[in-house]
Amino acid sequence: MKATILGSGDPLGMPVPMCKCKYCRKGPERLRAGLKVETEDSTVVFDIGPDLRQQLISTDTSDVDAFFATHAHFDHFGGLPELSNLDVFADAEISIYGSEEVQNYIEDVYSWIDIDYTVFEGSTEIGDLTVEAFPVEHSEFLPMQGYAVESWGKKVVYIPDLKSLPETDVYRDADVLFIDGMYLFEKHMEDDEDHAAKEELKAEIEKCNAEKVVLLGMSEHFNEMTVEEEKEKTRYEIGKDFKEYSL
Ligand SMILES: [Zn+2]
Ligand SMILES: [Zn+2]
Repeated sequence: MKATILGSGDPLGMPVPMCKCKYCRKGPERLRAGLKVETEDSTVVFDIGPDLRQQLISTDTSDVDAFFATHAHFDHFGGLPELSNLDVFADAEISIYGSEEVQNYIEDVYSWIDIDYTVFEGSTEIGDLTVEAFPVEHSEFLPMQGYAVESWGKKVVYIPDLKSLPETDVYRDADVLFIDGMYLFEKHMEDDEDHAAKEELKAEIEKCNAEKVVLLGMSEHFNEMTVEEEKEKTRYEIGKDFKEYSL
């Protein structure tokens, strides 16, 4: 099994458009969150963010057996019209899995889009991958689910936004955990009810008991730190776009 980070950035990405700060001028490029997991036989993509086009091209991704939506926030779901265009104009076979709430959101907000969507809670098999969903506390208005993927005894968990994790074993004991690291450094927006603050977030990450932890939702602009400075502040790995993990 191989996992590839499609995007390691926060909701704005890096660099931030129209920003001239030194972190945006010199920092790494970070697309909005996404993860590809594949075996020789099967490929799945988690999140359908606004950078999806670039992500698929840059990682030379052609056959995707299933796209999994986590929730309908723009930075995780804004690429839906892009997928719909591929479906209609490029004869790509697009199949999306997600919660009933995301399906309702498509019907409300993207009412013109007619796409193969499977309501998915619990566990499903995509070729030799087993994908299991679990609820994540994040947005009151746009409920979220995280995903655990297992194949041949290896496990990857994807939680790109996070306030808190309800008790379940589904997200525990991963070989690699890809998780929201937005407030793990010095900065925090006081009125943000959707993301865990530093100590809270650390406790949630530890609860997952992963072999390796990789942080997504990163922004040097927001943290006002270089990647080197971020590395000094945490023992977790700082995510990097298109980095691959072989399991
Ligand atoms: Zn900036
Ligand atoms: Zn979100």
